[in-house]
Amino acid sequence: MTAFDDLMAFQHETEALAQVAGRLAWDQETVMPRGAAAQRAEEIGALESVLHARRADPRIGAWLAAIDDSGLDPVGAAKMRHIRRTYSRAVKLPEKLSAELARVTSRAQGIWAEARAADDVAHFLPVLERVVGLKREEAAALADGGDPYDALMDDFEPDATAAETGAMFDRMRPRLVMLRERVMGGPRPAPLRGHFPEAGQMKLAHEVARHFGYDFRHGRLDKSVHPFTSGAGTDVRITTRVDEAEPFNCLYSTIHEVGHGCYEQNIDPAFALTPLGNGVSMGVHESQSRIYENQLGRSRAFTGWLFSRMQEVFGNAGAADPEAFHAAVNRVHSGFIRTEADEVHYNLHIMMRFDLERQLIGGSLDVADLEEAWNTRFAHDFGVAVDRPSNGVLQDVHWSVGLFGYFPTYALGNVYAGCLNLALRAALPDLDDQLAQGHTEGATAWLKEHVQRHGGLYPPREVIERACGFAPNEGPLLDYLDAKFGALYGV
Ligand code: ZN
Repeated sequence: MTAFDDLMAFQHETEALAQVAGRLAWDQETVMPRGAAAQRAEEIGALESVLHARRADPRIGAWLAAIDDSGLDPVGAAKMRHIRRTYSRAVKLPEKLSAELARVTSRAQGIWAEARAADDVAHFLPVLERVVGLKREEAAALADGGDPYDALMDDFEPDATAAETGAMFDRMRPRLVMLRERVMGGPRPAPLRGHFPEAGQMKLAHEVARHFGYDFRHGRLDKSVHPFTSGAGTDVRITTRVDEAEPFNCLYSTIHEVGHGCYEQNIDPAFALTPLGNGVSMGVHESQSRIYENQLGRSRAFTGWLFSRMQEVFGNAGAADPEAFHAAVNRVHSGFIRTEADEVHYNLHIMMRFDLERQLIGGSLDVADLEEAWNTRFAHDFGVAVDRPSNGVLQDVHWSVGLFGYFPTYALGNVYAGCLNLALRAALPDLDDQLAQGHTEGATAWLKEHVQRHGGLYPPREVIERACGFAPNEGPLLDYLDAKFGALYGV
């Protein structure tokens, strides 16, 4: 066995254990008995410490030193790129800091949930202060003197920089604010009306998932409080949620997770349980969920098909005709909550969080001033005043669990989805005719071929550029939004 073979065998076992940890977490969110929570925390904690030790195992350092990457084929070289990156991050972080972060964030998440329920910012700020302090330390340890925020972002979107991302967001923001103002100035379409029983919603969710190419032989669809996708390779599970007054919640959460799920299911099987066997970054992952959900799922063509199926399943689609149904699916509404935001508002939510957390990590914003900074920015970009903290600075779990640098990947995913949509429609001129019949095979085959099968083979920006034939940029997304909502709202 060469050092390369030894390292890959070790890595294979680590990846397999990571899949087990993911399965335990899936079980916890779906079918675990309520009384099992404390024991489950012990089980997950024990497995996480095994995984942590394996990721920083000194034998990896010895193998890495012995391997000459220049003699490897492109697949081997890509595997080494991932392993070297992960290992160098792992060894830069002092053991004590990682342990303290795990301890403080698990406490902070509980305090955040209490503070949000009580609308009490003051209850959350002291522990958030502690989390931000530790994240600053972490960023400094990882950054090698560079931009500390880059070091945090790198965990989710390798090679993306705060400066580039910030410059792109600054170009997007005025156009989005303008589009928002135009749309909100016009007449409001009616929301869906009716009662849509759970059994019908879940039946339709399964059907829609199959239409979008999700493979139930290698997956399943369950319910959870927050929809998510879990797993890789031959076992990729998705979840959704049900609100009997609002079926789009279930259906579009399903389509979103199907995008994530298909990405994982469609990766080249030869990459399974290797460093290339997962989606390459959070941004590229989100591009798949978003293009399924929005550019395909919320298109006029596909909603026409969905309208008929809703009528058949529920006896009533909740709207008078396919046009009204399409308008209800794409209803732009002024709301406080990111996860409920429409396509026009969503990226404005992200840009605000990106700017604020970059200032927190960089030290130019104090935690004590965060709420005021949030409310001022929200009033400017959304045209409404935040009415209470649970609708404002306390709404997201991310900061309490130390996820700084994660938010921008949501908007990057939307930008990538805009680019892919442009390329996809050029490649399949009759796409809308297919979608109108409920057929997405053409679109999903294109995405599999050009993005999904590559897994971690190419860096994030490169996989998008190879698929599209141009460097990813915000133009196609903004043009798509202007055209779609300009037409819908007649503005
Ligand atoms: Zn997602």
